[in-house]
Amino acid sequence: MTTDFGATRAMFDLPAGVIYLDGNSLGPLPRTAPAAMERVLRAEWGAQLITAWNRAGWMDQPRRLGDRIGRLIGAAEGSVTVGDTLSIKVWQALAAALALRPDRRVILSDSGNFPSDLYMADGLARLMARGHALRVVPPEDVAQAIDASVAVVMLTEVDYRTGRLHDMADLTARAHAAGALTVWDLAHSAGALPVDLAGAGADFAAGCTYKYLNGGPGAPGFLYVRPDHAGAEAALQGWLGHAAPFAFEPGYRPAPGVARMRVGTPPVLQMAVLEAALDVWEGVDMADLRARSIALSEAFRARLARDCPRLALASPADPARRGSQLSFRHPQGYAVMQALIATGVIGDFRAPDLLRFGFTPLYLSMDEVERAADILARLIRDGSWDRAEFHRRAAVT
Ligand SMILES: *Cc1c(COP(=O)(O)O)cnc(C)c1O
Repeated sequence: MTTDFGATRAMFDLPAGVIYLDGNSLGPLPRTAPAAMERVLRAEWGAQLITAWNRAGWMDQPRRLGDRIGRLIGAAEGSVTVGDTLSIKVWQALAAALALRPDRRVILSDSGNFPSDLYMADGLARLMARGHALRVVPPEDVAQAIDASVAVVMLTEVDYRTGRLHDMADLTARAHAAGALTVWDLAHSAGALPVDLAGAGADFAAGCTYKYLNGGPGAPGFLYVRPDHAGAEAALQGWLGHAAPFAFEPGYRPAPGVARMRVGTPPVLQMAVLEAALDVWEGVDMADLRARSIALSEAFRARLARDCPRLALASPADPARRGSQLSFRHPQGYAVMQALIATGVIGDFRAPDLLRFGFTPLYLSMDEVERAADILARLIRDGSWDRAEFHRRAAVT
């Protein structure tokens, strides 16, 4: 397949004058999403009321959307469910994995992991009160730290700050060789690069849909359970993960397979938007996406290395070792980013000093990436970022 990136770009509504390098944090609006939302509001909720749970297929959304996401991450049909948030899905995956290794007590993660994942692991370990400990090592030390005490290796494949890419297949194989299981966070992987969960033998994986999958602010998370772990314990025993939710039994019986990882009522409106967003992927080949993502980020990197050598790259220079983002260190990174955003080039800032840029081939052109690099280099050279207004901190960076 040869992906037509001109066609995918036409499927997004981007404001004029903006170069959007933050699709790694919040993807832009797919053109068909407002009509999809309107249809669900009026023709389904409005016209069908509660009967839409059956007639409009609302109850099947978590599985239907899960299968569509599954195709982008190398997951078999029926092994992914959609709902809740990524943080919740990480918690569920970890709880299920720990229950499969009852004699072990160590959750191994790395210092590049997203704080919410670490908080969830720490909180779960304390709640279990059975002596579980979260061991956090530097990303480059994970492989050596996998030993026979480790129950679960819990990692984010692409580091949210630096973009550094873990070798999922290698670390999963090492975990398995040591008798441990893996939980992969795909927040910066799903829709960003090819992922092969089945090929890697990953045990559990979770992700979100508002970043590279463009499901909109508040879009739900997803959870993958390797089919042979389908009998894993569902620690959050919500009624929609029950084998027969509408039998309203007083006791919990888990639904077969990944459906037991559903918790409560699905966010139907949000899923309608996500469903429209997933249409964009129909003609996209992930290998094409990866090649173009690398071409875009390399163009940005090369231009800044030439025109702004003082700006320190915080990401791996080798594109094969990073996801679909680049980060740079600048002591006044926050103000530089605000000044850049004021020109219409949108990236984001991550404390303490990172300028972060996402490269999203579905809607970014080479010309835009080069122009964005030129604007950033000029701002840094002429010092025009150093104005009081750009130093004022907002709640979301
Ligand atoms: C964005 C992100 C999250 C966010 O979790 P939510 O529950 O969706 O807010 C978690 N983990 C990683 C690695 C992320 O990048």
